Amino acid sequence: MADAYDVVIVGGGLVGAALGYELAGEGARALLVDRADHGSATAAGAGILSPETVSTDDEAWFGLAMEAAEHYRTLIPALADADAGDTGYAECGSLQIAFREGDDGTFAEAKTRTQRRCPDVLTDVTPERAREMFPLLGEVRAALFNPRAARVDGRLVTAALLQAATARGLQQRVGSVNGLERAGERLVAVWVGDERVSCGAAVIAGGAWSPAIADQLGIALPVLPVRGQILHLRMDNLDTSRWPIIQPVLSHYTVPWPDGRLVVGGTVEPDAGFDVRITAGGVRQLLRESVRYAPGLADATLVQIRVGLRPVSVDDAPILGAIPGVENAFVATGHGANGLLLGPFSARLVTELVLGRESSLDLTPFAASRFDAPVR
Ligand SMILES: Cc1cc2nc3c(=O)[nH]c(=O)nc-3n(C[C@H](O)[C@H](O)[C@H](O)COP(=O)(O)OP(=O)(O)OC[C@H]3O[C@@H](n4cnc5c(N)ncnc54)[C@H](O)[C@@H]3O)c2cc1C
Repeated sequence: MADAYDVVIVGGGLVGAALGYELAGEGARALLVDRADHGSATAAGAGILSPETVSTDDEAWFGLAMEAAEHYRTLIPALADADAGDTGYAECGSLQIAFREGDDGTFAEAKTRTQRRCPDVLTDVTPERAREMFPLLGEVRAALFNPRAARVDGRLVTAALLQAATARGLQQRVGSVNGLERAGERLVAVWVGDERVSCGAAVIAGGAWSPAIADQLGIALPVLPVRGQILHLRMDNLDTSRWPIIQPVLSHYTVPWPDGRLVVGGTVEPDAGFDVRITAGGVRQLLRESVRYAPGLADATLVQIRVGLRPVSVDDAPILGAIPGVENAFVATGHGANGLLLGPFSARLVTELVLGRESSLDLTPFAASRFDAPVR
């Protein structure tokens, strides 16, 4: 009997939604199953897309991230053509700043790194000019402007991808995948609650919950949740639509949105596990730090506090592609603090593998097989 679906996607955060969009666009009969957990990273993410200023020395990661940022420049117009709704995407630029004496060394390192990797892209900006660009700033010691930095609203872009994917034929279900059924080396079905759904392949895109899904195949995925709390502040009567993102080299960022919202985040709490509480200590840290470099924020209205679990792999690089030992099971997770940036492009690359094609980027550095003992 024919399988009910060619592919089942487990997880409907940004990564799962982008997989649905890509797979349905290739004509695959695809089903996306999402449990809508509180603590989804996508629902909390700040939305900074700025590979140029990420402090990594991993060249493979950097190459992936640069292509991922470029991918947005074709994805966003495609979603607009599909009438899929607002995504919040804008190339607003970012200012990396040093504001304390202790920042100077790290700022100099960051500047050397970005100028080596992206010559002629970032430019020095005087403290006065930085304050003109982002009027809430206090004292600034040094600033570097990245005109290519962009922002995207994780919730909106995910909704847009799902809308466009549905128009392409993607089926969606709210539910929990609590069983992956194997026959020898092949996956043959997923269990959604107590319903068996036969399928030709499955992709695990369950964010921080991905290890529990892979566990059903007897595979240990080294991904851990890293809690992030993030504040939504609002300044009334200010036109924030053209303000850049502020990225202090040793403190929390602020992302401005056109409606006066200023998003300050995020805490990095690897010891919180799956605890999705908002804590006094987390909120205090974010407020104290942001008001220190942008004293003007003290007058903002505190509108909302969000919390999400970043899916972080042990080597902090995504895990993309085939699951070792199972012919037709795939994974797309481990995007950590940069999943809104990487997610749509990762989904494109993993889609190529699911369809049996060669990936257009060498995914060896991101393969699940790079870990010592991925199969239990
Ligand atoms: C505070 C914070 C700030 C961030 N800022 C940025 C940023 O500025 N830029 C950036 O690029 N990235 C940022 N990130 C990271 C980014 O948000 C994540 O890497 C990305 O959203 C991960 O997407 P995902 O789809 O893998 O996981 P998620 O969004 O967590 O989605 C996983 C989904 O899988 C579902 N699921 C799990 N198990 C099952 C199951 N068994 N059955 C069915 N469904 C299941 C869950 O319910 C959930 O909906 C931030 C994250 C946080 C928390």
